[in-house]
Amino acid sequence: MEYRDILVVLEKEDGVISPLSTEMLGRAKYLASELNQNVIALSIGENISEMSKEAIYFGADKVVEVGNKILENYTTLAYTKVLDFILDKYLPLAVFIAATPNGRDLGGRISARRKIGLVADCIDIVLTDDKKEIKWIRPTFDGQLYADIRISTKPEIGTIGEGAFRPLKRDDTKSGEIVKEEVSLSSEDVLTVFLEQIKSDGEKEVSLTDAKIIVAGGMGLGEKENWHLVTDLAHELGAEVGATKDVVDLDWVPYKIQIGATGVRVSPKLYIAVGISGAIQHTAGMKTSDLIIAINNNPEAPIFKVAHYGVVGDLFEIVPRLTEKIREINNKI
Ligand SMILES: Cc1cc2nc3c(=O)[nH]c(=O)nc-3n(C[C@H](O)[C@H](O)[C@H](O)COP(=O)(O)OP(=O)(O)OC[C@H]3O[C@@H](n4cnc5c(N)ncnc54)[C@H](O)[C@@H]3O)c2cc1C
Repeated sequence: MEYRDILVVLEKEDGVISPLSTEMLGRAKYLASELNQNVIALSIGENISEMSKEAIYFGADKVVEVGNKILENYTTLAYTKVLDFILDKYLPLAVFIAATPNGRDLGGRISARRKIGLVADCIDIVLTDDKKEIKWIRPTFDGQLYADIRISTKPEIGTIGEGAFRPLKRDDTKSGEIVKEEVSLSSEDVLTVFLEQIKSDGEKEVSLTDAKIIVAGGMGLGEKENWHLVTDLAHELGAEVGATKDVVDLDWVPYKIQIGATGVRVSPKLYIAVGISGAIQHTAGMKTSDLIIAINNNPEAPIFKVAHYGVVGDLFEIVPRLTEKIREINNKI
């Protein structure tokens, strides 16, 4: 049997293609081009035609649509049945699934059903030099090491978390084939009933993964009372706030804004690191940012190795002045 092409299982978020799906398409396109193969996106659900078109704009060569009222909301058995059918029919070499709660559920189920290997939470996917094998890279030992894992069954499956890859630039002039597939489904394929979706709480969701600008602070701030230096600067820049693990561990800020291998992975246009040493576990979560500016009083701090611009100096002098300057500019606009 010849396995070829990379299949990306799409997900919707708030009714449109999820940012993570576009990131997976970007990586799939890169690998498929290296292999001279195609990217096939799998669109499952109801009212999925917009998502299918967007998948093409973000890099898919072809979209396979499985539309059915039963698939309107994710359920393990129905989605697994669809994916199982598509894997038999299209024989993809590799399958990318979002490392979301639903994606993790689907990945685990399909892997168990077909007795095939899956690598969870990949942060990189590359080919070996001879292009014969796929290296599925994921953090291990809580982010202290990266493991290069090979899958010996086909198709190879990986789940991918947000921020590991960058999407391609959306190109709405791009065209691609959209194929509709019928998978016979009945209410017996759905043993659970979706009643309603309830948001976790009333609080504003932190959208670090989508943020264009992030100001992140570390232990250089010294104590919690100084944390306002980070939030003041972020406020003037219209930025989101991030933190290192050590700061989170001290309860200065909540875990949900921890950036790094065991926190959120981000790729903003601008990342300002204030009093952050640049430990590998931290940089694993932000080094793909477009522009990194580090403020640190130690010229040897490892953060300067990933920073595009470095300011060596005392953050207690630099940050308030920077914030004030930006405030002046904002007031003039
Ligand atoms: C299993 C595991 C998982 C981890 N996961 C993560 C993770 O997801 N994210 C994460 O961030 N970390 C993670 N860590 C922790 C990581 O190893 C580092 O300990 C942490 O990132 C360091 O945080 P920091 O940079 O705030 O503190 P420090 O390393 O203490 O750095 C503080 C920096 O501030 C500078 N500084 C001090 N005073 C000033 C001043 N006045 N002006 C300017 N600069 C100043 C110092 O020069 C120093 O470079 C993990 C660790 C382990 C073991």
